[in-house]
Parts: sequence; C-alpha cells; structure tokens
Amino acid sequence: MTAPTVEAPPEQFDLAVETLVIGAGACGLVAALSAQEAGQEVLVIEADAVPSGSTALSAGLVPAAGTKLQKSAGIADSPASFAADIQAKAHGENDQALVDLLAQKSAPVINWLTQVHGLPFSVVDDFDYPGHSARRMHGLPTRSGSELIDALRSAAERAGIDIICERRAEALFFEGGLVHGIAAHRPDGEVETIACKRLILACNGYGGNRNLVVRYMPEIEAGLWFGHDGNRGEAVLWADQIGAATEHLGAYQGHGNVAHPHGILITWATMTEGGVQVNRLGKRFWNEAKGYSEAAREVLSQPGGEAFAIFDARIADVARQFEDFKRAEAQGAIKTADTLDDLARSLGLPADALENTIASIPTGGTDVFGRTFGAIRLAPPYCGVRVTGALFHTQGGLCVDKTARVLTREGVPIANLYAGGGAACGVSGRADSGYLSGNGLLAAVVLGRIAGSAVTS
Ligand SMILES: Cc1cc2nc3c(=O)[nH]c(=O)nc-3n(C[C@H](O)[C@H](O)[C@H](O)COP(=O)(O)OP(=O)(O)OC[C@H]3O[C@@H](n4cnc5c(N)ncnc54)[C@H](O)[C@@H]3O)c2cc1C
Repeated sequence: MTAPTVEAPPEQFDLAVETLVIGAGACGLVAALSAQEAGQEVLVIEADAVPSGSTALSAGLVPAAGTKLQKSAGIADSPASFAADIQAKAHGENDQALVDLLAQKSAPVINWLTQVHGLPFSVVDDFDYPGHSARRMHGLPTRSGSELIDALRSAAERAGIDIICERRAEALFFEGGLVHGIAAHRPDGEVETIACKRLILACNGYGGNRNLVVRYMPEIEAGLWFGHDGNRGEAVLWADQIGAATEHLGAYQGHGNVAHPHGILITWATMTEGGVQVNRLGKRFWNEAKGYSEAAREVLSQPGGEAFAIFDARIADVARQFEDFKRAEAQGAIKTADTLDDLARSLGLPADALENTIASIPTGGTDVFGRTFGAIRLAPPYCGVRVTGALFHTQGGLCVDKTARVLTREGVPIANLYAGGGAACGVSGRADSGYLSGNGLLAAVVLGRIAGSAVTS
C-alpha cells in the first residue's frame, strides 16, 4: 500500500465537482443522496470494483429511537433513552454532544430512507440486544448488510448519482486550511486528480491496516480480521498530517461468536435468548450478557483461543431470521443433538463437564458471573457451535462538530472537510467494551446524512 500523502494542489485537475465523497459504504451513499437532495453536484469514488465495504459484511441493523416503524409496532422509545444507553455502555467516555446528535437524528434518517428512498426497514421485535432499553434495531428483510448496501446503491443510481469505482484516494490536496481535492489511483496505474468544493471522508477506519491495529489495539491483534480489507486508515493518516483532531483510536467493535473455522457470524441472540459460552473444558468463563464486542477478548483468552456457543432449538428458530445463521447451518457449523452427552461428543467437549455447566445455570436467578437468567431453561434438542473472537471494525477516528465538519487539534472546524461512519470518532468509548450494538451503522447513516446535507460556509 502507498502511504497516503497530503500535498499542495496541482495547477490543473482532471475533474472538478462540488461535493466529493470518498467511499461508497453506508456513510458515503447516504451522504451522496443527501448532498444531491441539498442541490449539490456530487461524485462518489470507491476503491472496489463494486461498492460493498464493511456495510456489506454487517447484519445491516441500524438502531434508531422514535421511528414511525417503532410507533406502529407499539414500541415506546426516545432519543434521550437511546443516548443514555449509548453512554452507559461506553462508561460515559463519549462526547455527550455527539451522542445526543446521533440519538436525535437516528429516527429521521430511518424515516427518510424508508419513505423517500423506499428501503423496506422493519424493527427487530422478537429479541433484545444487550444494553438497549428498547427494541430499536431496524433492518431490511434478510437482516443482511449486503441487502442494505445494494438498496443504497440502487437508490443512488435511481437518483442519477455518479459513483466511480476502482479509484483509491491516496493524496489529499490541502492548503490554506482548506481541502482542494484528491488524487486517486486508477486500475491502469495512472493517477487522476479531482478538485472539489467540499470533501466527505466516508472511507471507514483502520482495521485493514495491520500497523495501526498493532499500534492502537494490540490486545485484538490475534483475532480474526472480519471487516473490509480496503479500510486502511487514510482518514486518520491524513488527519495526522493536516493537524486534525482524532480520538479514541483504541476503540473497536470485536465479536466473540464467529463460527470457527467457517468464519460466519453467529448472532448474539443465541446468548441473549438464554444460551451460554463454554471453553474447551466445557466450563463457562464469563458473563455473556455484557456484550458481544468484549466477548472477542474473553474468547481469545480461553485455551486455544476458542469457545463453544451452546443454545437450543427454540433459540435457533429466533436466530434463523439471519442469513448468516442459515448459512452456518447449511455449512454444518451448527451441531444439534437430543442430549447434552451427544452434543458434547459432536463438539469434542467433555460430556460430564458440559452437563454440569448447563445444570448449574440458574432458573430466573443470577449466576456466579453476575448474569441474570430468565425462567426458560435450555431444553432438547440442544445446539452448539465452535466460535472464536474477531475484530469487526475500529471506532476511533476524526473528531467532528455537529455538522460533521472535521475539527483541528485546536477545536476549529475545517470549513470544507467532513467525516462520517468509521472515518469519524464514534460513540463507543475508548476500548472494546464501550460498543453498543449498532453504533457502527448509526454513525455511518447519521453522520453521512448530516455531512451530505450540510452547506459549505
Ligand atoms: C461482520 C460485521 C457485522 C456488523 N454488523 C453491524 C450491524 O448489524 N449494525 C451496525 O451498526 N454495524 C455493524 N457492523 C459495523 C458496520 O458494518 C460499520 O460500522 C459500517 O458499515 C461503516 O460504514 P462506512 O460507510 O463508514 O464504511 P464501509 O461500509 O466500510 O465503506 C467504506 C468504503 O470506503 C472505501 N474506501 C476505503 N478507503 C478508500 C480510499 N482511500 N479510496 C476510495 N475508497 C475507499 C471502501 O472500499 C468501502 O467501500 C458490522 C461490521 C462487521 C464487519
């Protein structure tokens, strides 16, 4: 990879646009749709041949509080309680103004995507995500990010927005405190320069840049990298060079329930609905109710860096709404058995230990790890899957103001530079345990919407 540079603008550019967006993930496409709606001439450049990004790898679930869909489903919610949930999960480490902004603008974005662009969102109303005090995850029918990115790309195409693929932005033209444009590599090795009046960084974080992962989050270096390889950290590397502020670079979303060696995400509903994780010795090792992000570190610290998610057929029914879960079943990752003894055998676990572990789960009480269980016990047929811990995406990044403009280290906004999604500092605190489900796409769609709609001063 060529190191991203910051340079003085050339005398002539190959192309010129009003709003240039780097990256065609959820953030970039929402930003482009919003910029066009605001009357801007907009161009998106994307490194890949077809837009996918981490968005396509995700479950495509966007949290939003106070949407029309929630109201129709009889779910009472408010931006204030959403903001409180975000801060509680992140131990109060986030900038309160950013948390409030994201919580308040979340419902309008979902309403707009549904009503104006026809995205068929619905609320996940049959299970709870840890840390959310209301059911507020909104997803498309297949609950997959590939459906979300395809729907956003189709909306952009319908709106006549140009997306030029196979252009990797490598140089930022910055002078006099303003962005003048970028230079991007074409597949034939040539460099193309694009001038812009304003630039939106929607190129996500630095999970695909090994050096930055080692520098900022060494504790997850041994985990699987499960995000999009193309997210190599240009935004933070440029920020360093232009004096822009970055924060919480050690923050990330991990996941401790990735089927191994299949590499398929197993929904955390398998835990929230009453399942547990055991290690190779058939023993539980932590409070799974804390969340799936910190689960990555917990699982990686077990013998062999692996664990086994144990649940039952009732829970599998809930999990089956996720395409990934069905794929894991089709590939034989999920084992099912009528007895715990047989399940232990097929997972290679000590049967006595597994039976003791499941028998010791309290019914409607709290266990030694501090987890509170409901009244429904795991019942045959039982299910199990071998899992490991993974790094999904980074959560630190560029500091932005309430219009998504990038701030300098002195706290002054750069008038024509914006950031959103994984390029911006999110609301997940300083490390892995501050990630509340959905923080990733929340920052992508809300900051994308704000950055796109903002008018250059
Ligand atoms: C397995 C998995 C499951 C997840 N599930 C969820 C979920 O259910 N809910 C949730 O909220 N979040 C989830 N996330 C996180 C979520 O996917 C991300 O937070 C979100 O997609 C970020 O959107 P983005 O637009 O910032 O980045 P991306 O979708 O990654 O888009 C960035 C785009 O920029 C392009 N790009 C990068 N650098 C350059 C460059 N220099 N020049 C040109 N193009 C460039 C990339 O190719 C990419 O297409 C999940 C993540 C993973 C990996």
